[in-house]
Amino acid sequence: MTFADLGLSDELLRAVSEAGYDEPTPIQRGAIPSVLMGKDIIGIAQTGTGKTASFVLPMIDILAQGRSRARMPRSLILEPTRELAAQVAENFEKYGKHHKLSMALLIGGVSMGDQVKALEKGVDVLIATPGRLMDLFQRGNILLTGCDLLVIDEADRMLDMGFIPDIEDICTKLPAKRQTLLFSATMPAPIKKLADKFLTHPKTIEVARPATANASIDQRLVRVDPRRKKEALVELLRGEDVKTAIIFCNRKSMVRELTTSLKRRRFAAGPIHGDMEQAERIKELDRFKAGEINILVASDVAARGLDIKDVSHVFNFDVPWQPDDYVHRIGRTGRAGKTGVAITLATKEDGDAIASIEKLIGAPIPPIEGAREPAEATEPAEDKPARKPRAKKAAEPRGRPEERKPKRESEARDTARRDKEPEPADEGWNGPVPSFLAQGLGG
Ligand code: AMP
Repeated sequence: MTFADLGLSDELLRAVSEAGYDEPTPIQRGAIPSVLMGKDIIGIAQTGTGKTASFVLPMIDILAQGRSRARMPRSLILEPTRELAAQVAENFEKYGKHHKLSMALLIGGVSMGDQVKALEKGVDVLIATPGRLMDLFQRGNILLTGCDLLVIDEADRMLDMGFIPDIEDICTKLPAKRQTLLFSATMPAPIKKLADKFLTHPKTIEVARPATANASIDQRLVRVDPRRKKEALVELLRGEDVKTAIIFCNRKSMVRELTTSLKRRRFAAGPIHGDMEQAERIKELDRFKAGEINILVASDVAARGLDIKDVSHVFNFDVPWQPDDYVHRIGRTGRAGKTGVAITLATKEDGDAIASIEKLIGAPIPPIEGAREPAEATEPAEDKPARKPRAKKAAEPRGRPEERKPKRESEARDTARRDKEPEPADEGWNGPVPSFLAQGLGG
């Protein structure tokens, strides 16, 4: 099946081919024709499956007819984080370049004045995080009565972040007769309830989770002594053919600590976590995208859903507390036809967490003895220069599972319990106004 078979306009087909896409992904095949027909959709798909284009493309064609009015956006896309909202805006720019649609991005932290000005002009697409949208609504800056197309993206993430009451509130302010598209990687009960309440005869499209079905992610588990996680990671970074890597930690403090440690060892690493100002986060991301650094040390909230191309490796420095986060984390690699490696460092204490992940993905994570445990507990010289990332071939899996027992099981303690810092909900943009705020989409 080609994009032309989906019923999209010639302008969109041109934009899609300019984006370099040969054929639609399964979620695009399933969703686009139904969205164009005006149907409600439940898309069970996560980032990495092409889900953004599955709603952005048909929306552009739907919105190509009709005109926007001041303060009355014609469509609304709700995103859980500012980064995701900004990313969807970028998608609109990319696919909408042959159309004349206007959009506004409403995210926390950006000056309200600019956002209000954009709304005053009238927008076809409003992309918002729930908190800021409610804020502007309560101030009387937005009328949602003309908004008959609603997208609730990453609904399970919204649930994690406590946004469901806001979303319910927003839904009641939109016209009852509207088209609603809901996307979620998983369908926990509160999301099902939300869908039952606010969607009308939705068509459900479920695509294989990249974590289970995506053979392009080579998943591996490395058992490590908790006191030597850093050394194990450094060995892996030096031994693997790491072009670009995202290293996930469970705590912001560990993101900071690990970044400093890697930099001392001459790795080109940068941090991204929820405590950083938005401008700083964007700067690190841009440095990563531009190749100035090839290692991004990240927390879950900051990295969720980020669309960064060509990430060769994902490392779980900490096993995620939530099994779903594992799926989201490793989905950063092996994207859009590329292959990737996802390596999880696990201590003895992580047994239960690993078991939950394996249950969720429906398969064991193949273990390897990728990183030797040093015989002595000595810190290696931190200033030893990092080997060039691409110098070595990927390590071959070695050793059978029963040969991988940690040497000092009783030592499995400290780091996992240290300084628990929850990641805050991702609201409040403190950085500069993004360039694409409320600008036309060309055409
Ligand atoms: P998403 O799941 O929306 O986060 O998209 C994941 C990545 O796939 C993004 O980099 C998109 O640009 C890319 N992508 C979307 N649709 C296609 C397609 N049909 N062919 C190839 N890449 C695509």
